[in-house]
Order: sequence, then structure tokens, then C-alpha cells
Amino acid sequence: MVDTRGSDNQQAAMTEAQFMAQLKAAFAQMPNEIPIYHFVNPGRDDVFAQTNRQIVRVFRELSSKITFREYNLDHELARKWQVTRSPTLLIAPETYQIRWLGAPMGEEGRIFLETLMMIGMGQSHLNDESKGVLQKIAEPRAVKVFVSPTCPYCPQQALNGVQAAVERPDIVSLEIVDIQANPGLADQYSAHSVPQTFANEVLTGMGAQSQELFCASLKKLEPQTVFIPEVDAGLVENDVVIVGGGPAGLTAGIYAVRSGLSTAIIERDALGGQVATTPIVENYTGFSQVGGKNLVDIMVSHALQYTQIFQGEEVIDITPGDPIVVQTSRRKFHTRAVLLATGASHKHLGVPGEKRLSGKGVSYCSTCDGPLFVGKKVIMVGGGNSAVTEALHLHHMGVDVTLVHRRDKLRAQDVLVGHLKEAGVPILWNTEVKEIQGDSSVASVVLENNQTGERSTMAVNGVFLAIGYEPAVALARKIGVAINEEGYIQHDRHRTNIPGIYSAGDVEGGYKQIVTASGQGAESSMAIFEDLINPYWQTKKGA
Ligand code: NAP
Repeated sequence: MVDTRGSDNQQAAMTEAQFMAQLKAAFAQMPNEIPIYHFVNPGRDDVFAQTNRQIVRVFRELSSKITFREYNLDHELARKWQVTRSPTLLIAPETYQIRWLGAPMGEEGRIFLETLMMIGMGQSHLNDESKGVLQKIAEPRAVKVFVSPTCPYCPQQALNGVQAAVERPDIVSLEIVDIQANPGLADQYSAHSVPQTFANEVLTGMGAQSQELFCASLKKLEPQTVFIPEVDAGLVENDVVIVGGGPAGLTAGIYAVRSGLSTAIIERDALGGQVATTPIVENYTGFSQVGGKNLVDIMVSHALQYTQIFQGEEVIDITPGDPIVVQTSRRKFHTRAVLLATGASHKHLGVPGEKRLSGKGVSYCSTCDGPLFVGKKVIMVGGGNSAVTEALHLHHMGVDVTLVHRRDKLRAQDVLVGHLKEAGVPILWNTEVKEIQGDSSVASVVLENNQTGERSTMAVNGVFLAIGYEPAVALARKIGVAINEEGYIQHDRHRTNIPGIYSAGDVEGGYKQIVTASGQGAESSMAIFEDLINPYWQTKKGA
């Protein structure tokens, strides 16, 4: 057997030498100087400060463009750049707002090198979509990315931060915070699992994000889970406009495009409709148990493979004709068919105190607000699937919840009622809420037993309401779509009374399940496809 260890070592040395030579050549091409400033506490020369000096010494060998200066925290430059922690590295602070709190040790060393190269070149290397999102941010973003040297996901997120700061030095300031060197700061932000990203003191990312999601989260100042490219066009011409991005609209989008119809989905609020705020879904085929928001992300990602989605845009008006004109808050669409998949919105109790204390203890979304009530006492009003699912959700997260129902029997499915009994959630039967009381937040509710007429006051911190939905038919009414006695869109296999205008999902009434809404979305797109090939209204005319 041949001993290859000697040649392996030689090869490794060669490879390292070649790598360094390549880096030197790359730095030699760079137009920009790369000044690095190191701020330390005079009384504390710790391992992080020593590491910084060692790292920078290695990188300085690569290029004379990299310069290094060290100052104490009481130096005027520390005051000028508002440096208060030791050690802190500032990179090209006259041009960029990028600083390292701690040291770029372990996995972060590579990102530090990439940062120097980006600054040397003056290029962020972001893709066009990410640059497009950043260009639309008008206000400053102060970003903190919490990292640790051993975390394999942190470099990606740190790199996102650096790229954003290099691309938009005018508005993005970045602090990469090593939590080992800055445990107090990590405590302050509860950033104990890394990477974690904050912008303007708001959590914008848990874990590593793609560069597009990082930039979109920075723009919206909330964590984004699906990247939806923005379109700037003032006029879009296509075959189908779908109003509403819930399960019906998303499924309809997939089916329409697969039928060869160019399609756009317009959603003014959050995609996914009610599903997005449903804690757990257990009856959507293929998913024995899935978080509502997760299911929505899966659906949206699937739909985006086919159709354009315009989120945060409201349909103001629809003018039937050829083409049908859809006016939104941002642009016009000329289209051949419109599908109304506008869903339904929460019903209100209409009792004193409900409106005034909404958002101050009165809530219509346990997924959103439940965590605020852990260890506190609340009531959940309603007896349908929503009330029972949400009461269970609150109970499991540690909220002291009592279900309040106006009859002596729940409307919810047996399996859910079974779960509620097993969990031991108390139920007040034949009970109606007459008033919600409290000054700045909910303090109590006035309840009435509708069998005995007896009234009582119950001290609670919160009132959750899940008493059904009102169909969102304002737009349909405005353009003259017929509405049935129950207030839902009247339709014949998803065709409304107006040629070219269709409906699907909860706005049609019926069972209001995710799976039925999806099915209706698919059916309606197939109806649109059939009609665009062979318009039934023209056939009728000719007959
Ligand atoms: P829902 O089935 O219409 O039930 C509404 C509940 O609120 C009923 O129990 C009703 O009482 C009560 N209620 C209505 N108005 C009230 C008022 N003014 N004061 C007090 N109580 C009032 O609504 P939902 O539970 O939101 O469900 C809506 C649809 O979504 C349903 O089709 C449901 O099956 C579906 N959904 C399905 C799932 C699932 O399958 N996982 C989950 C959630 C929702 P009464 O019973 O006395 O009428």
C-alpha cells in the first residue's frame, strides 16, 4: 500500500496557497478601500477582541486596501458612530452602516470575508427581485441579526443583512450580534435561538430566510413566509381575474392557468382567508394535522407556480363588458372573466362594549391573540366548529377558557365535541353575552341564562368570538350580482346572473369547508374555461 499522507498534505498546502493567491488577485481588482475600525473596552481585552485582531491580520495580508485601526470606547470616533459595546467592528463606516458586535468566529468568518469583498467591489450581489423589493423601502431600517459561531444557519441570514446594507446604505443599518459575546443583548430581545432578525425593533425573521424573503420581511416589517413578486404595470390584460386569495381563489388560479388561461388573483388582506388564522386543520385530505398558516403557505407556493398574485390590493370596481374592466387600488385589469371568491368575514355580537374593547381583550382570532392570554381567564362565544377548535387551541396553550353557547347543544362536529370533553373545557349552556365591560381592557362580561333569565357578571381578561361569518358580497351587490335570501351569491354551477362573472367558496354559502371551497374553485375555473371557448350567453342568444 502506498502512503499518500505526505502528498495529501502537500496538496492541501498547495490548495490553500492557490486559494490565497486567488483571493489576493480578486482584492487587487477591487476599486474601493476597506477600512476596518475596532472598538474595545480599555479594561477588557477579551477573547473576542483578540480574535478580531487575529482575523483582520489574516485578511490584511490579502490586500493593502484593507486597513485596521483600533480605538477605545471612550474615543471620539466611538461617540461619532455611536459605538457602545466592546468589541465592535465597523466596516467602511463612512459609506456603510455595518457592524459586528462580538467577533466573526466560526461559521461567521466566511461572511466577514464576503462582507469585505462586497465592500471592496461596492456590489451587494443581490438578485434583481430582492433589489426591487429593497428599492421600494422609503423609511430607514435598523436591522439586528443575532448569530452564534456554531450555528450552521446563521451565515445565510448574516449574509442577507450584509447584502441589504450594501445595496441600500442610505436606509439599511446592520448589526450582526454574536450572542456569546453579547448575552445581555440576546436576553433583552429573547434571541436565544439563532438566527433571529429584528428590524426597527420588530421581529422579521426566525431562522434563515432566502434573500427575497429577508428583503420582503424588511419591507413589510413582519416575517414573510412566501415571496410574492410585485408587478408595477398600470394595466394588466389577461383572461381571468380572481377576487380573493383563500382556498377557493388559489385553487381556481391553479386550474385556470392549467387550462391555458392567463390569470391573476387579487387579495386585499392576508392570503388564505380564514384558514390563515385557523390554529389546526385536521380534515383537509392528505394532512392529518396541519397548522392553518402552514397549509396556506403550501397553497400559496403552489398557486405561485402558475398564477400571478396581487396581494394588498383592493378591487374597487368591476365594469362588465368586453373586456371586463377591474379597477383596483393600484391598477386596471382588462379581462374576459371575473371570479368572485371573496369569502366571508367575522360576525359581531353587537352587544355594548364589543366595539369599544375590540383589540383590548375582545378578539376574533385565537391564533393571533391567544398567546397574550396564557394563564388568564377568557370566554369563547359560539357553538360551531370554529368556536370549539379555537377553545381547544386556547386550552392547549394554557389559557383558562370557558365556552359560552346560547343553546344546549353544540353545532360543531362530534369529533371536535369529543376533543372538547376530553380536554375538560367548561361549557356554559343556554347562555348569552349581554355586555362586555372594562375601562382600558376587558374586565368582565354580563351573562344571561336565556332559560331562567338570570343575569350574572363574570370576571374575565378576554372575550373570543367565533359566532359565524357574514358573506363578503359588497362588491357583488355593487355590480348587480343576484344575492339569495341567506345573503350569499346566487349562482348556477358558479355562473352568476351576469355573463362573465362567476363565484366560488364561502361567498356562495353551503358547507364552508376548506376542501369544499377548493373544489368549488376548481369547478368554477373549469366553467370559465368552457364558457370562454363557447360562451353560453351567445349560444342562448343565437338559439
Ligand atoms: P357556524 O357553524 O355558523 O356556527 C356559529 C355558532 O355561533 C353557532 O353555534 C351559533 O349558535 C353561534 N352564534 C351565531 N350568532 C350568535 C350570536 N349572535 N350570539 C351567540 N351565538 C351565536 O360558524 P363557524 O363555527 O365559524 O363555522 C363556519 C363554517 O366553517 C361552518 O360551515 C364550519 O363547519 C366551517 N368550519 C370548519 C372547520 C373544520 O372543519 N375544521 C373549522 C372551523 C369552521 P347556534 O348553534 O345556536 O346557531
